[in-house]
Amino acid sequence: MSQFLHTKYASLETYTPGEQPRDKKYIKLNTNESPYPPSPQVVDALTRQEVEDLRLYSDPEGTALREKLAALYGCGPENVFLSNGSDDILNFAFMAFGQDGAVFPGLTYSFYPVFAALHGVLYDTVPLREDLSIDVDGLCGTGRLTVLANPNAPTGLALSLEEVERIVASNPDHVVVVDEAYVDFGAQSAVPLIQKYENLLVVMTYSKSRSMAGARLGFALASRPIIEDLEKLKYSTNPYNVNRLTLKLGEAAVDSDAYFRENARKIMATREKTAQALRALGFTLPDSKSNFLFVKREGLDGGLLYQKLKDRGVLIRHFSDPRIAQYNRVTVGTDEEMEAFLTQVKAIMKEEGLL
Ligand SMILES: *Cc1c(COP(=O)(O)O)cnc(C)c1O
Repeated sequence: MSQFLHTKYASLETYTPGEQPRDKKYIKLNTNESPYPPSPQVVDALTRQEVEDLRLYSDPEGTALREKLAALYGCGPENVFLSNGSDDILNFAFMAFGQDGAVFPGLTYSFYPVFAALHGVLYDTVPLREDLSIDVDGLCGTGRLTVLANPNAPTGLALSLEEVERIVASNPDHVVVVDEAYVDFGAQSAVPLIQKYENLLVVMTYSKSRSMAGARLGFALASRPIIEDLEKLKYSTNPYNVNRLTLKLGEAAVDSDAYFRENARKIMATREKTAQALRALGFTLPDSKSNFLFVKREGLDGGLLYQKLKDRGVLIRHFSDPRIAQYNRVTVGTDEEMEAFLTQVKAIMKEEGLL
């Protein structure tokens, strides 16, 4: 740290992204990326002309993509906000709507407390219930910015649309952010509610189900006044926040939506198969509606499993937080990747005298 940094940032605890190792080739099941490439239409959208046009700024309004997303989600383009990854929108949400403080579940996306700290937003957390599910009543009527991921991370558990609506309806004077990064893997989206509740902000990303984590594209769907607030912050920081190529590829992805739905279906089928195999090996795991599994095995230390798998070329995500140190989060890859993962898990369990 330099002597020049504003003192308010001196003690900031930053977010720790999952490892992106370059030392060798791993079966990479640690950052919830898709194992499948984007659709052929997305690949074809990147033409020589598009690259040459990089001399021009991107459309700050992203009009073409907003119109396509609006048609896909059944709202108007004025209800769509685009960003450089959805983390950007979450950042704006804490910046814009956190004046009275914030509330989120005790175990959720570990970026929320970082954004809160960055913007000086005081927050409380509502502990998960014994079965790791979100305490819906605890998130109702908070009288503050309320943020939840549905499905939640890293548990993968989803709330029903009725439960989400109860939280949104109970907090009419504050924004409720529903982070739907994983919604395409089997949960119900809250998007139909944006017409009914002015305080609802639904956040989505191209990083998971649309196989475009590296393109950095996120979007929000909400009532017009909320979108205007986000635009105010965007035009005060980075008006061209989405680059030309990403806008183009994002449009092509909407045009090939069926391709992405089919990938999500494949990933869900692989998830169920893998979950069953893990349960047969004595693992316990919540009923995931996402593209990852949150797993633990009695008698097998979470950190040890992570390290031994890494030594064998399989990367999963281990969290140092003592409350979940016995767990690991395993991204659902292809059938072949998950078979390789299970083979190594069994070998490790034999070594440990558990099989
Ligand atoms: C992956 C993820 C995001 C977003 O990521 P971007 O790549 O910035 O769009 C947001 N919320 C949760 C819970 C996630 O897991």
